[in-house]
Amino acid sequence: MPETAPPDVSLEAKSPFELRVDLGAGVPETDVRSALKSGDLGFLHSFTTGSAVDGPGIRFVGWTTGCQFRCLYCHNPDTWKLSNGIPVPLTRAIEQVGKYRQGLKVMSGGFRLSGGEPMMQDRFAVRLFSAVKAMGIHTAIDSNGFLHERLSDADLESIDLVMLCIKGWNPERHKKLTGVELGASLDFARRLAALKRPAWLRYVLVPGLTDQDEDVAALAEFIAGLGNFKRVDVLPFHQMGRFKWKQLDMPYELDDVQPPSPAAVERACAHFRAAGLEAY
Ligand code: SF4
Repeated sequence: MPETAPPDVSLEAKSPFELRVDLGAGVPETDVRSALKSGDLGFLHSFTTGSAVDGPGIRFVGWTTGCQFRCLYCHNPDTWKLSNGIPVPLTRAIEQVGKYRQGLKVMSGGFRLSGGEPMMQDRFAVRLFSAVKAMGIHTAIDSNGFLHERLSDADLESIDLVMLCIKGWNPERHKKLTGVELGASLDFARRLAALKRPAWLRYVLVPGLTDQDEDVAALAEFIAGLGNFKRVDVLPFHQMGRFKWKQLDMPYELDDVQPPSPAAVERACAHFRAAGLEAY
């Protein structure tokens, strides 16, 4: 197995909007399989620092590769393929987060694993979270929840905050938007509630795709009824990832979609607030 990242690519990036492809393509299939099983090796697009919008306080963020969703609005389609990520031994990933331990504590921040979909590499994610939490650092995962059954209830205890990204409420629209069924994401929300695990909802607002009032209001009611979701982040769609679709030669359907207006974002937030949730 490779011991280090490819020499010419930095594990840290200025932002996840750097296009990264084929960085793990040289790892033999058998090694990939054993890495996924053991979690000894992960595949990461990058680590980024200093994000103030990725959870409580300032966050150090690891961006995993591999995702089973195919969201039409995805900002990072280069993270869909596991093999686009840098192969990173678990020990190195732990060291990398550990370098920021003091700063993250001082700034009441923590570590977040995002993607892609981190649960595609569930053993790596859980082992990394456990080690980071043992360092006294707050841990958070950004997940669509589809693969939540891969994590046991005990595994979930290594994650201080689940930032669950539910992509919609109407099952048909969800399938059209993401390519997969909605049910598992909602099941994960219910499971987190039953376990009383702290959670935030993330909701990407895309004009014409996810801004239907009835859907947002119904999702708000559902989330508020669970009791464990402390906050909702409404994330306005933007076009910063469009260049990736073009460079990867992937058909991009949202060329003509504009970011939602501040009033539209406010209207979505108002639905969540009306249900009793804190929304931004
Ligand atoms: S779940 Fe996230 S990473 Fe996966 S396709 Fe959707 S937006 Fe992209």
